[in-house]
Amino acid sequence: MTVADRAPPSPSPPAASRQRCAACGHELAETDPRQRCPNCTGLLEIRHPPPAATGMALRALLDARCGTRAGPFYSGVWRFRELVLPSAGDDVLSYPEGNTPLLARPSVAQWAGATTLLLKHEGHNPTGSFKDRGMTVGVTHARRVRATAVACASTGNTGASLAAYAALAGLPALVLVPKGRVALGKLTQLLAYGARTLVVPGDFDTCLDLALKASEQLGVYLLNSINPFRVEGQKTIVLELLQQLGWEPPDWILVPAGNLGNTAAFGKALREAREWGLIRRVPRLAAVQAEGAAPFALSFAEGFARRHRVEAHTVATAISIGNPASYDRAVTAIRETDGVVTAVSDAEILEAKAVVDASGVGCEPASAASVAGARQLINKGVIRRGDRLVAVLTGHILKDPDAITRYHSGTPPPPPHANPPIEIEARVAEIARVLSARG
Ligand SMILES: *Cc1c(COP(=O)(O)O)cnc(C)c1O
Ligand SMILES: [Zn+2]
Repeated sequence: MTVADRAPPSPSPPAASRQRCAACGHELAETDPRQRCPNCTGLLEIRHPPPAATGMALRALLDARCGTRAGPFYSGVWRFRELVLPSAGDDVLSYPEGNTPLLARPSVAQWAGATTLLLKHEGHNPTGSFKDRGMTVGVTHARRVRATAVACASTGNTGASLAAYAALAGLPALVLVPKGRVALGKLTQLLAYGARTLVVPGDFDTCLDLALKASEQLGVYLLNSINPFRVEGQKTIVLELLQQLGWEPPDWILVPAGNLGNTAAFGKALREAREWGLIRRVPRLAAVQAEGAAPFALSFAEGFARRHRVEAHTVATAISIGNPASYDRAVTAIRETDGVVTAVSDAEILEAKAVVDASGVGCEPASAASVAGARQLINKGVIRRGDRLVAVLTGHILKDPDAITRYHSGTPPPPPHANPPIEIEARVAEIARVLSARG
């Protein structure tokens, strides 16, 4: 028994969660619908009352819910409800989501140069990305504050997820996307799930500015990742992978980083997991950006002396963000976990993706940044070969089919893992020729 194993005396009735400004400490009620601190416009964070059980008792409670096939714990988010939204009660709106696999694929580990590299595949969520974990909590909360419409700015995945959960809730959804910069699989989801899809000239950062103004002036409830309830849901990526590892933390968790909502959520999840005695040691976070959209990596290289803003350009559209909204919270996450931030090139991302795809797993381009980052950080000696790594794959392979076609049918010289289609005459001899050529 450790100190953390003893449950604190349970307050009665259980205290409500609060929203707290991360910058100035100002507190708001849990159901206050404002998106930023009224004092200083800082980002808000949810503070929950301590769970009734901690340490081994909390582990046992959470583990007993695994493998549930129906009911309130049949979700990889709501299984952790005491740590996500304890006051949700029966209000929960769930697909269900989460319960994503943690995969070992030797060919991927070998390419990265790691002894142990596991892939936490968030593309297995209902709409094909981790955004569903935040959105089930965000839309649950939107109903609690009696929102009449929900909105977000998106490079595609947030919008697809919002559209699906708004449809479940029976709420109208508005999605603002940057013109010409949304992958085909995501755009088609928006239309199919029934969101009002507004195509804006400009980049993601333009869309987010506009969505913020619209939410303040028109009263629609904004569900971008600055919304602290989204962050609560996304914490469960980390909680679930720790649980899958029997609460024995890896040495590193690698995550693709764009708007930095996930980086922030991972930091909060790890802080709380240690505080509530679920783990004793905190893994290090590695946030991986694309070179063409790396303002956070620039700040890290300067010891976070200042914030940067760039014009974002990368093949990995989900992380093509020049002015990350969750910057402050993400800085805290990197500092608290003794983490690192790095950037990888589009060529490295596409090569990593081709390796993940050819292993039979598959992911969208942004997701492969975590695997590309693993290889780069091992080569640089930041991560040791023998360290135990978990790389998060954030989205599904079918999100961006055009990126795949472009890579495999690419103009000469062919990229390292190109597998172009082969045209043949309708004769068996032609097939035999192809078979023998492959050796
Ligand atoms: C949203 C998203 C990201 C970036 O996550 P942030 O929280 O914005 O840093 C990375 N990959 C995919 C597939 C995404 O949908
Ligand atoms: Zn404040």
